[in-house]
Amino acid sequence: MQTFFWKTLAVVLAVANAAEWGYHGDNGPSNWKNEFAVCGGQKQSPINFDTNTMHYDETLTPLTLTNYAQLDANKTYKVINNGHTVTVMLDNMDFRLNGAGFANDYKAAQLHFHWGTDNERGSEHTLNGNKYSMEVHIVHYNTAMDNVSYAIDKDKGLAVLGFFFQVGDADNTAYNPILDSLSGTVLNATGISQAEGSVPSFSLESIIPSISSLDDYFRYSGSLTTPTCDESVIWTVFESTIPISNTQMNKFRQIISHTGERILDNFRPVQNLNARTVTTSDSNYPTTTTTTEQPSGSASSLALSLVALCATVFQFVL
Ligand SMILES: [Zn+2]
Repeated sequence: MQTFFWKTLAVVLAVANAAEWGYHGDNGPSNWKNEFAVCGGQKQSPINFDTNTMHYDETLTPLTLTNYAQLDANKTYKVINNGHTVTVMLDNMDFRLNGAGFANDYKAAQLHFHWGTDNERGSEHTLNGNKYSMEVHIVHYNTAMDNVSYAIDKDKGLAVLGFFFQVGDADNTAYNPILDSLSGTVLNATGISQAEGSVPSFSLESIIPSISSLDDYFRYSGSLTTPTCDESVIWTVFESTIPISNTQMNKFRQIISHTGERILDNFRPVQNLNARTVTTSDSNYPTTTTTTEQPSGSASSLALSLVALCATVFQFVL
């Protein structure tokens, strides 16, 4: 009886917890700001990357990834189904990020995924309006701050690397350890708000595109894409994508949350850029051709024409 009571309580608490926020219906992203004010802020994530309007920034040098190739066969990573996604904890390793315009060292804390019901959607960020099937976020915290909990709501407290997935025919075997860990209560967490399992150690380098292909990326200041939506994140999202097979994608779509429902379309829609600027390390962008060197004579005559045009426009406006 007592066991029954505790089990019932656990389910009730799990359901109450689920009612706080989600991706669908009344608990969906458009209502997050009612409970979590910061979600209605001006620097929210994700966003659409528009290659016509972003700014090339030559100071965005390649990333310095320290220990990313490290593998410790004696260690396992905790994997958690929290009802919103599946998270792999990386805090017992020392994967570090620097360079690429970062003022401090950032240490990897965890990674997690956002995916869709089908291959046409799933990513949080979009590129020129295009959605990808899945997006992984590798969350790092600023080592000048004590820990990830402290850094989570501090300016520049977090640095998240985002990678898009492209579905193809071949399995990406580097993902087998993570996919194999999606079993038992991690796969079906009905009634358990934080279902935990473990993943054999893998190197971060093995699950991302080759380091030499990471030079082209987009950078902006944004937020966590889930409540409490803290605006503490330096985002770096890469042009190079991670391959994955349809069979592997479908494994993510089998994951069941504590409410007994499948976790699907767990992505937040893109948010307004507002006053922010997106910069890129890719010198091919922006793709819009702007007028370059003008002979001074024609530049000044152009300026005069513009002044005349503005005067005419203002006459009508005023
Ligand atoms: Zn995320």
